[in-house]
Amino acid sequence: MQAQIVTVGNELLLGRTIDSNAAWLAQRLDDRGFEVVRKTTVGDRTDLIVHAIQQALEESSVLIVTGGLGPTHDDRTRDAIADVFMAELHVDPELEASLAAMYERRGRRFTDERRTMALVPDGFEWLSNPIGSAPGLLKKVRQTHPKCLLALPGVPYEMRAIFEAHVEYAFDHLPQTGSAYRTFRTAGITENRLQEMLSSVIDALTDTVDVAFLPDPRDGVAVRVSSRAETDAGARALLEDLAIAVESAIGEYVYGGEDDRLEAVIGSMLTERGLTLSMAESCTGGLIGDRLTDVPGSSEYFKGGVVTYGNLSKMDLLGVDRDTLRKHGAVSGEVAEQMAAGCRDLLKTDMGLSVTGIAGPTGGTPEKPVGTVWIGLADVEKVVALKLQLTENRRLNKELAGMQALNLVRKRLKKLELTGQNS
Ligand code: ATP
Ligand code: MG
Repeated sequence: MQAQIVTVGNELLLGRTIDSNAAWLAQRLDDRGFEVVRKTTVGDRTDLIVHAIQQALEESSVLIVTGGLGPTHDDRTRDAIADVFMAELHVDPELEASLAAMYERRGRRFTDERRTMALVPDGFEWLSNPIGSAPGLLKKVRQTHPKCLLALPGVPYEMRAIFEAHVEYAFDHLPQTGSAYRTFRTAGITENRLQEMLSSVIDALTDTVDVAFLPDPRDGVAVRVSSRAETDAGARALLEDLAIAVESAIGEYVYGGEDDRLEAVIGSMLTERGLTLSMAESCTGGLIGDRLTDVPGSSEYFKGGVVTYGNLSKMDLLGVDRDTLRKHGAVSGEVAEQMAAGCRDLLKTDMGLSVTGIAGPTGGTPEKPVGTVWIGLADVEKVVALKLQLTENRRLNKELAGMQALNLVRKRLKKLELTGQNS
């Protein structure tokens, strides 16, 4: 069943206020199994609101409008709704009394302007506002093709309160809908490659199941599979086959589900194996240490890190060889390996992780362009280095290098079944 959202307000149109209502409502509707097909934002003009409502109601069964229901001159939604349905506005005595009582409790005058909030279009019901004044307005169309129009005030917490208090009632004449979804978080692989690997799954998608790719420089690409059916249980059943197909296609790159973070996943793996980790960071400047220590209890396995940004600190603190630096440069596999081994020795951990790179925007050369990054990882068995070619953007490079470095640890831990020896 399709749904749309119309948000009203000049401040939204101009970007002075971020349209958080539409985002919040879309998530709620999606969770309930509605297919949100369009969001529209219009300014405080009756004709624009009328047009947006008409179009949305022609196209979809559920329409939620927010904003413009208050008592001020720029609040036009009530009039627009009345226009669309060619309905008269009548004063609802019960609503008027409750508004009057509320203003009296608050010691404020119930002005004529405020009294406009007691106006309800004929054929509409009003929904009480648990925490504010402007009520919601509801129209349930009960025909062969049932519809629902729900108008809510713009103030986000009032909008949410009315929605949550009345949503069950507002939708109870609509056919049942259910939804389910599952997220696969991946690291170390691009959106394009994932899409290729999932091409047969994507080709077999139907109206009721979907796959979305959500890339993030910090957390990697999330693959979200979702489904709709008449009930949540039905949707979960639809999802099951899809999830199995996705998992078997991209499983080796998956580090967790919706709520999993790479740093926490590594933390659990280190804990399970009784291993410890230390860090030597150059171009990431401490970002990876920050991520590792975001995890409560990380002191169990993360013993410390050094930010060795210059050559001197790489030599003095980590024992990186002067000749290696001279011959290969600070951004090289050789130096990354020595940094990793050096911090492993210095902090007496099972694993030592290092990052060195050219974050940009300056400092690149033809052989080592901006975005060249080396990651080193030392453990009791061996020392390895991995080269990355990232982007031109400094911040993005730091985030991406952090994600790739953590992912290298994860991949190594998957292989490594040894237990702690140095700690
Ligand atoms: P009020 O009784 O407060 O006048 P209203 O229904 O008329 O309620 P608006 O006047 O449109 O609502 O908006 C009130 C305030 O709520 C705006 O100033 C804005 O800060 C916020 N707001 C409105 N719409 C949104 C939205 N879509 N997302 C986030 N904030 C919003
Ligand atoms: Mg207003």
